[in-house]
Amino acid sequence: MTKRVFFFGGGDAEGSAAEAALLGGKGANLAEMCRLGLPVPPGFTLTTEVGAEYRALGGDYPQCLTTEGAVHLSRVEGLTGLKFGDPEKPLLLSVRSGAQVSMPGMMDTVLNLGLNDETVEGLARFSGDARFAWDSYRRFIQMYADIVLGVDHHHFEDILLGVREAGGNGHLTAQDCRRLVADYLATVKEETGKPFPQDPKDQLWGAIGAVFASWDNARAVTYRRLNGISDSLGTAVTVQAMVFGNRGETSATGVAFTRNPSTGERQVFGEYLPNAQGEEVVAGLRTPNFLTKAGREAAMSDAPSMEEAMPGPFAELMEALLRLESHYRDMQDVEFTVQQGRLWILQTRTAKRSTNAALKIAVAMANEGTLSREEAILRVDPMGLDQLLHDYLDPAAPRDVITRGLPASPGAASGRIVFSSDEAEQRAAQGQNVILVRVETSPEDVHGMHAARGILTSRGGMTSHAAVVARGMGRACVCGAAGLRVDYEARTLTCLDRVFREGETLTIDGSTGEVMAGFVPALAPELTGDFATLMSWADAKRRMAVRANAETPEDVETALRFGAEGIGLCRTEHMFFDPERIIAVREMILAETPEGRRAALAKIAPMQKGDFVRIFEIMKGRPVTIRLLDPPLHEFLPDNQQDLEDLARDLGVDPKQMLRRARELKETNPMLGHRGCRLGISYPEIYEMQARAIFEATIQVKEDTGETVVPEIMVPLVSSRSELDVLKARIDAVAAEIGLGQGHDLAYLVGTMIELPRAAITAASIAEVAEFFSFGTNDLTQSTYGISRDDSAGFMADYLRQGVYRRDPFMSLDQEGVGALVKMGADGGRAARPGIKLGISGEHGGDPASIRFCEALKLDYVSCSPYRVPIARLAAAQAALGG
Ligand code: PEP
Ligand code: MG
Repeated sequence: MTKRVFFFGGGDAEGSAAEAALLGGKGANLAEMCRLGLPVPPGFTLTTEVGAEYRALGGDYPQCLTTEGAVHLSRVEGLTGLKFGDPEKPLLLSVRSGAQVSMPGMMDTVLNLGLNDETVEGLARFSGDARFAWDSYRRFIQMYADIVLGVDHHHFEDILLGVREAGGNGHLTAQDCRRLVADYLATVKEETGKPFPQDPKDQLWGAIGAVFASWDNARAVTYRRLNGISDSLGTAVTVQAMVFGNRGETSATGVAFTRNPSTGERQVFGEYLPNAQGEEVVAGLRTPNFLTKAGREAAMSDAPSMEEAMPGPFAELMEALLRLESHYRDMQDVEFTVQQGRLWILQTRTAKRSTNAALKIAVAMANEGTLSREEAILRVDPMGLDQLLHDYLDPAAPRDVITRGLPASPGAASGRIVFSSDEAEQRAAQGQNVILVRVETSPEDVHGMHAARGILTSRGGMTSHAAVVARGMGRACVCGAAGLRVDYEARTLTCLDRVFREGETLTIDGSTGEVMAGFVPALAPELTGDFATLMSWADAKRRMAVRANAETPEDVETALRFGAEGIGLCRTEHMFFDPERIIAVREMILAETPEGRRAALAKIAPMQKGDFVRIFEIMKGRPVTIRLLDPPLHEFLPDNQQDLEDLARDLGVDPKQMLRRARELKETNPMLGHRGCRLGISYPEIYEMQARAIFEATIQVKEDTGETVVPEIMVPLVSSRSELDVLKARIDAVAAEIGLGQGHDLAYLVGTMIELPRAAITAASIAEVAEFFSFGTNDLTQSTYGISRDDSAGFMADYLRQGVYRRDPFMSLDQEGVGALVKMGADGGRAARPGIKLGISGEHGGDPASIRFCEALKLDYVSCSPYRVPIARLAAAQAALGG
């Protein structure tokens, strides 16, 4: 029989951390903590398989579940000495979601379950605190009604506001809470047509179902899409005895990190709220106090830290944190509650962290001996490195600092102020940089946070939703900037007497918490310290080389600085667009005879040679692959009649002739038209000029610097060996003409891009001529799917939103289809030419999942844009380590 429910409590547990797929991260870690002897309130977890059954049965439970649940519930009763539904000593429960992968705040939770008109009286008597009892009941009704019964929470908030105002906005009294309960119950009846469920068992099963179903709510679905989490995993549900952080001044609730999640420093870091329930910390509704005295002093706060206010539970907490980190061998993010002086641990999970922190922690743990270097390499998400490669504020630039908040997620960002997530998304889609400004964020804001360059909130602490999510996404974030007043209606942000409107520019520095008016220039980062250390470890484990796609000297230099070991793709057409050359390029295109073209090409040739000399000099003998001209020629011509006529005048040709030529060159499907090696077949002089420029540059660099370059000349868009036969013969002829290999003892290679299905299929034949292959997976994806690279944007978003494709195949390699062709190409190439050099230079060369695939095929290198080079270096090392 399948085991559906797993018990934990009293120092024992049926599951363990290893069973996160079945118990969810939360359930598995609660079990593990019980086994470690940590103080965990008892409970039980219904597995993700039950969740799947529940969904398969259309929102119903397998029959045996209620009996199984009852057995575990009575064990919880035994351990707590309380009874579920008992009018004297009622046991209250929390019902929490917990997926295998943490999705903070995206799914639902119900607290204080088990209260009804009778048990609330029992709780009041038993706790001796009527206000607490009735406040718990009113919170429960609101949560349950919202999550399980579908009554929108604003109904309750409106009522609450009225009662608060009537009471002079002071603390709610027991009497207030009683009144609220009566009003809430009436509202539920009104909205649902039924009374609020009074039977605790009905409440329990209702809540369990709703939490299972919350896997499919809109924000959870968005979060999974943004984070590449599979929809099929499902959530588990953990039912646990409640403990209360709101039982007076000896009670509290909080969140603690075993290290600093922004900087990675080894110091316990966290926040707590005295006399509060856990949700209040996470929701950022009250700005919490510091955990440690040092943290409080550093922030110059007057509110006593937990260390000072509750030394006993604090010491116990510190001990638990130490144990948890050394047990899990990773930084932990821990939720705890102190109920009347007694510490309870409610959750532990691997802590989310900034990339800087991830690097510092991985390097420190390897140096401490907690991790091996291999494990340290595998601990850092390659895509996160992107955060470090981006800019920080120029310290010398003037700043108009208007206020300061908490440095919640590092990095600097300037952008236009927006007050809603939808506005953020719209403006970002138009190419604007935006700063999302909110009082606080909620899971509904995930799409806006994703679209924004930075996030600024006026409320909430370092563990508020805004802070946690921004760090995970790598967005700069300043939160809890209490000096700001946000007015959503007027769309203004006010700081003392200064008013900022939507659309005005603001700069935030998530590393210092500063908020600045206007734009502040930023600088490129230094890649030293822990970054350099971890990258050097990664480089030592990496098998594949990492090259860059670059053609301008600046890009080539950036690539080198980021660790590129060669140029995998120098797209020569980019050099043709230079304003000084475009005229000569156009003259060449308009020429109607080979002589005319040669004359124009003669003007371009020295500039082209100069380009290659610069690149070879910068790369100092490292391999450089230069691709001959690829795009259809009309791309170099103006696209409207007026500009064409102006051009004709500049070149001194008849405008009519100009228009006719432009018409001739126009194609219905340029991507499948006169481009790539087809240009070389039609206009031999173009490729000959380029080959000559490459060879002459090779000779010049040898003479000037002594550096030997072996240029790799790459012919694009080959679909049959015969094309390469013709073109290679011409390139060889140019080499012979120059005397390469005779007077000058210089070598070169001629190879091709494999970027059409036919080339992949006939790779063995092509490799008899080609001396290397570079997989052009952009075009290969285009031609395999039959989706135009230029037109996919029109429908790709629909495909992704509807889950027709899990990922955009232009961003992450489609291993099943396009990947099969890459494999075929690699196998064919190696069969004909053992040891043939194989690389990839499509966008996929910078995508970790695609890099893993390249490692599996044992390609020699990946090539990607300069800013992706560090990502590719780390991803290639992880792939080599089997990560
Ligand atoms: C490719 O097609 O994958 C490629 C690298 O070339 P381009 O993007 O220039 O077409
Ligand atoms: Mg291509």
